[in-house]
Amino acid sequence: MARIVFCNGNVFDGIDPIGRADIIVEGDRVAYVGSLAAEPPRADDCVYDVAGKTVMPGMVAGHGHFSFHDLTLPRIMDADMQHPPAYMGVVAARNAQRTLEAGFTTYVGAGSVHNLDVVLRNLIADGLVLGPRIVACGRDFAPTGHALDYKPEHWNVRPQTPTGSLGALCDGPDEFRREVRREAKRGVEMIKLYPEGGHGLPSRTVRLSHAEIATVVETAALCGLRVRCHAYSKPVIKQCLAAGVAIIDHGDHLDEELAALFVEHGTYVLPSLYLAKMTAGVYHSQADCDAWFDYARKSLAMGIAMGVKFVAGDDFGLLELPHGDNARELSLYVEELDLPAREVLRWATSNGAAMAAIPDLGRIAAGYLADLLVIDGDPLAQIAALTDAQRIAMVMKGGDIVKSTLAAASGVSFR
Ligand SMILES: [Zn+2]
Repeated sequence: MARIVFCNGNVFDGIDPIGRADIIVEGDRVAYVGSLAAEPPRADDCVYDVAGKTVMPGMVAGHGHFSFHDLTLPRIMDADMQHPPAYMGVVAARNAQRTLEAGFTTYVGAGSVHNLDVVLRNLIADGLVLGPRIVACGRDFAPTGHALDYKPEHWNVRPQTPTGSLGALCDGPDEFRREVRREAKRGVEMIKLYPEGGHGLPSRTVRLSHAEIATVVETAALCGLRVRCHAYSKPVIKQCLAAGVAIIDHGDHLDEELAALFVEHGTYVLPSLYLAKMTAGVYHSQADCDAWFDYARKSLAMGIAMGVKFVAGDDFGLLELPHGDNARELSLYVEELDLPAREVLRWATSNGAAMAAIPDLGRIAAGYLADLLVIDGDPLAQIAALTDAQRIAMVMKGGDIVKSTLAAASGVSFR
């Protein structure tokens, strides 16, 4: 099989910019990063001259719901109520392809209906559907009376029933234990737990007990699964960390004490603030959004300085956040919250891959999976280059070119 060679590109390796480097891809892996002067190309190599362009790792969408499509808050739980499962499967497949073509070669689920993450993961792995590699998540876990359990009692609709809704409503450790095991049986890798509301959901809501959270984490671990929690407030985040939760979605009230705890526990945190930006004036006021961002501008910079492992990912699939716009979240952090582009690119590459628990992903280095992007421009200098489909010149996933506007060259000169 011919190797694929990228020469003369400006390389961001997932951690740092390493300047001009040549990259050789063999099979599904990066075989070499350096200078072709030391590792001359072979006659049958397929060579791309990417001078003036940036080569970086495929990005990770750390918080995904492929079944979300033009949804509006707060009735987000209607996700699976409007269409039959087969319809939702086609919608999710289309969203997966859009996400991949936008440069996101890996997706970590944050709640899916009808076991769609698992089905899509398997279809993509079998080569039947085009999409990112998927870390599959299942139903949303929440207690009775939680903001997700919004359907009136007189409807007599229980979300854990097949005709119910997205969520698995449980009460008490025994019910949570059983439902976590059911998710394991269905093939998920991640449990999504809602110990509280907030961040797009009503904040005054029923909360989980410590015993319930601890049971979910313990049962998930025994099944080989991890737990991610929708949590924004300090007391609930501390409760989650004490129970051993791996991932905190949102974490809006990040402060120095929480940052130290995140570092100590090795917890991944997804601020997911693009939702707040795009729904300002719809679900909350612009003034509230501005205050939120003023706080985040300082708290995220502090978290970066302390070494918190942030990851990019948000609720794409809501009406205001179409799938494929994922890189706009990165632009927000750099352009409006003044965070360093290098850090934010790490969130979307090496940090995201670590959160996905795929050790040979998220870097451009020999031996790593060849998930690569060729960007027309330099996202470190201009992050918005990632949001322009025209400037994503190539998307490669596991050595396969899934999108390209580049022509392979012959007789390329190496600088
Ligand atoms: Zn979500």
